[in-house]
Amino acid sequence: MELSQRIEQVGTSATLAVARRAKQMKDAGEDVVAFAAGEPDFDTPAFIKDAAKAALDAGDTKYTARGAEKLKQAVADKLARENNVHVAGDQVICTFGGKHAIYAAMQVLVNPGDKVLIPSPYWVSYPEMVRLAGGEPVFLPARAKDDFKITPRQILDAGGAKILILNSPCNPTGVTYSPPELQAIAAAVLQTGLTVLSDEIYEKLVYGQTRAVSFAALDQALPERTITVNGFAKTFSMPGWRLGWAAGPKNVIGAMRRLMSHETSDVAGFVVAGGLAALTSPQAPAVIEAMRVEFEKRGAHMAERLNAISGVTCVQPTGAFYCFPDISSHFGRTIGGVKIADSLTFAQAMLETCKVALVPGGAFGEDACVRLSFATSLQQIDKGLDRLEKTLGR
Ligand code: PLP
Repeated sequence: MELSQRIEQVGTSATLAVARRAKQMKDAGEDVVAFAAGEPDFDTPAFIKDAAKAALDAGDTKYTARGAEKLKQAVADKLARENNVHVAGDQVICTFGGKHAIYAAMQVLVNPGDKVLIPSPYWVSYPEMVRLAGGEPVFLPARAKDDFKITPRQILDAGGAKILILNSPCNPTGVTYSPPELQAIAAAVLQTGLTVLSDEIYEKLVYGQTRAVSFAALDQALPERTITVNGFAKTFSMPGWRLGWAAGPKNVIGAMRRLMSHETSDVAGFVVAGGLAALTSPQAPAVIEAMRVEFEKRGAHMAERLNAISGVTCVQPTGAFYCFPDISSHFGRTIGGVKIADSLTFAQAMLETCKVALVPGGAFGEDACVRLSFATSLQQIDKGLDRLEKTLGR
């Protein structure tokens, strides 16, 4: 059957080949250490599950979630309290994950041919979401020597674009813009006509002295130009619940609501109840902090060990749960029968020789690097890094 041109232009990720092979090996009983996960390894906290169970038992199973309005207000309250971003409940939409919020925002904002600026390395789905909306991704290179951060100049030089997507803390680099850096970006944005989609899904996972700030809070002119996206997957360890949200100008959120009314309808009642507990329970801060502290330990340890491996350099992660080391000095070598020419063949060689699954950086727009998630135990981190060290040298 002939497929639409729309879907034909969406690429299948090269990373899937490595992930598929890793799964095949695991299924065959091989001891693969996987650093590929994009989700926390913790279970959803019990108080959140209990709220969802109670909602199900109370019959909250209809099209409209009983707590839908309350959840939107809870998001608005959280934004005011924690982020200094002030919106009304009708400027918030709850979606099927942060991913869906970004997709819907692109659908209602992008016209055919519109340019969307994406700092590169980028989260894999951004360019495809832009293309699916008929837009053209324009990449702003952010190199390791600059800590994977773009400069205000790059924004000013990129004239003619409609939207800028920002993601801080960042997947895949683990880098977080400091408040002054983000302020400088905001100043550049204000000299242009850009709308900003600020993906703040990793805001709670920041390390050391790092502080995550909301882009919309940086200037009083920004709330009108910013769509803030966030979700429950990372902060509350709820990836499979598929719950996220966006906040922004009323007309944009209203348009997303119209789109969603024909596309998915609203998120489920028991999921909303879980989300409401996550945002309002007095138990939440301690639970979130415990997970953050654990990620902080793991990230520092993983980066230190990566930097001790021959020919590997890793920028210290200040947020999210990823290390994104440069491994390009190994290009040209043959390891385990695989000639290493790029991040994909590097990942293949590591999987075949020492059974460590990594994600090739090419999928994120940076072929010199690979991504390792530290959403796994310290024990697994050491086991995988022992193997990498043995294969690549110290
Ligand atoms: N944004 C970034 C940068 C992500 O890494 C992810 C998930 O990996 C998402 C958005 C979407 O998260 P979810 O749809 O699970 O809420």
